[in-house]
Amino acid sequence: MRKKIVAGNWKMNKSMEEALILASEVVHMVKDEVNTDVQVIIAPPALYLTTLQKHTEAVANMGIAAQNCSNKASGAYTGEISASMLKSIGATHVILGHSERRQYFNESNEVLAEKVNIVLENGLTPIFCCGETLEQRQAEGFLEFVASQLTDSLFHLSAEEFGKVVIAYEPIWAIGTGLTASSQQAQDMHAYLRGHIAGKYGQEVADNTSILYGGSCNEKNAEELFACPDVDGGLIGGASLKSREFTNIAKSF
Ligand code: 13P
Repeated sequence: MRKKIVAGNWKMNKSMEEALILASEVVHMVKDEVNTDVQVIIAPPALYLTTLQKHTEAVANMGIAAQNCSNKASGAYTGEISASMLKSIGATHVILGHSERRQYFNESNEVLAEKVNIVLENGLTPIFCCGETLEQRQAEGFLEFVASQLTDSLFHLSAEEFGKVVIAYEPIWAIGTGLTASSQQAQDMHAYLRGHIAGKYGQEVADNTSILYGGSCNEKNAEELFACPDVDGGLIGGASLKSREFTNIAKSF
């Protein structure tokens, strides 16, 4: 069966000192309170990964993710961080294709396909983000648009490779806006994406793929969202910056 996952995307927030406090609080609360069948991942800024990994590795159902990585293996790419570097410091996951990276850093489906490849080659798990804008939602074809993000960046993978990918559906209009997708809207999209995956890789692979919801998910709405049959957890932004609330979300299955 597919995994239940709650991942906290800290984005570009927190000083080192604040990050240490937040991570150690989360680690303790997860150890004491969260069911071991829920995988809890934190994605702090890259600068803090090495230090915080020492904390998360002590808890079997915790992982630590980068928010991005290079599409290149190594070499003269000033400012970049490679998947092999992330692997070497004990990172477990890499968030790829977040809408903020697509929007502000011009990440295309093609570059994301390269990033997916290099992340998988290095034995890390991609958390692949997809989602539509408000304009797209109000027009025809938004389901197909989101499905095409999967097709273009993931469907070159073998079934075995695809089986290692986690999907995060994040409607752009719900990110940081306080506008959550209703549980029905989330369920409809997740079921559609699972059907799209089944069409390419078969029902078994689709049934084993974790599809997370992201976008103004918080301790109040998590339970209803996670109760949807095709919602396997959440990718949490703002609410992951508070240890109590983030842990409560991880307890919402
Ligand atoms: P918010 O939870 O702050 O809306 O952010 C969601 C997100 O972008 C997680 O990657």
